[in-house]
Amino acid sequence: MINRIKGTQDLLDLTLFNFLIESVKKQLALYNFHEIATPIIEPTDLFKRSLGTETDVVNKEMYTVNTGADQELICLRPEATAATMRAFIEAGIQTIPWKVFSWGPMFRHERPQKGRYRQFHQVSLEVIGSDSIYQDIQVITLLERLFCDILKLDEYALHINFLGCAQDRIVFKKLLYDYLTTLTQLCDTCIIRKEKNILRVFDCKVKTCQELYADAPKITQSLCATCLSEWQTIKQSLEHLSVSYSHVPTLVRGLDYYEKTVFEFVGLQLGAQNAFCGGGRYNQLATIVGSKQDYPSVGAALGIDRLVLLLEQKKDGLLIPQKPPLYIIAPFSKEQFDIALLLADELQAQNICVDVLLEGASFKSMLRHANKAGARACLIIGPDEQKAREVTVKNMITGAEEKVSQRDVAIFLKA
Ligand code: AMP
Repeated sequence: MINRIKGTQDLLDLTLFNFLIESVKKQLALYNFHEIATPIIEPTDLFKRSLGTETDVVNKEMYTVNTGADQELICLRPEATAATMRAFIEAGIQTIPWKVFSWGPMFRHERPQKGRYRQFHQVSLEVIGSDSIYQDIQVITLLERLFCDILKLDEYALHINFLGCAQDRIVFKKLLYDYLTTLTQLCDTCIIRKEKNILRVFDCKVKTCQELYADAPKITQSLCATCLSEWQTIKQSLEHLSVSYSHVPTLVRGLDYYEKTVFEFVGLQLGAQNAFCGGGRYNQLATIVGSKQDYPSVGAALGIDRLVLLLEQKKDGLLIPQKPPLYIIAPFSKEQFDIALLLADELQAQNICVDVLLEGASFKSMLRHANKAGARACLIIGPDEQKAREVTVKNMITGAEEKVSQRDVAIFLKA
């Protein structure tokens, strides 16, 4: 027996998964985003440069492959934003803002647990080439409307913080460094992060560290005039649009390319892995990835697997498209298989969903099968029906039977 790789999933019923992807696609189309797809493999360097070397993703979680002769390191993508920016620059897109989304599997070598997988799925949306802070507001609002109005989620919260511009962070990092220097109980990782990439201390999961950081200086108190005004605008506009949020001063997000706006939607019933969507502004990413010109941008990633976990508790209230009614053709024996396949072919050509039982099972077990499969009716073809060019249509709900000419079955079923 060969089992699936730790941290991966076999998705054997995609009803909710597909409903989710379709709902997100519809919502994004309403806001004029268009769909793109980028490769699952990318140069490792793309993520090393953009996500930051002291981030968990780059430090410990990348699936990297050495391709041999040319020594080029490639990896399974851990996220989609850097790849979307690479694609934008590589294609020389001129029309901005470029509003796009993509979806698919991402790979991170994390410790698996409920809601955390090594292969997981994200929808990633990006507005590339706009420094208007109102784009951030619109991205947050479209997500809020999706989660609340369309997916009918209720027990969740929107957390927001504002990381300022590069200059603000220089000032803030100095204040934070001085504050951390006064503390004596930092964990070993935070001691390293304090020296190498100080904002990452806020990602620390150690409880004692988190308690200490509650009293740390807040970055929103170190903003320049422009950033302060943008931060006020975000808060006011979200209030105008009736989007509820909480300001969480320690929210920095796990990837280095974010600045100014950062946000996360967290499910209150999801346990330890509670963020089901996160995003923010990334004004420097284009130049980090190799563009000669700055393209300020904003985006978000939805964690599909965690959203599916949330929707499982809600599925009765959702408008999940119904499957078409199923009809099962039950030929008595091999002699009727040809006519059964011919009838199926005609019905399927008319968009009627049909399955044919071709295993030579007994009549009783064919009816049992049709019942289990939730068929609306069973189309029985025995020697008598074959001779008379008819089928017996057995209604699986009422049990009523009716003989119908083979020529008229489609009209009969549609009626
Ligand atoms: P990130 O790309 O880290 O900003 O994450 C965006 C969203 O992707 C998170 O809010 C999660 O919902 C989801 N996500 C990230 N990592 C994982 C994982 N290992 N397993 C499942 N979902 C994940």
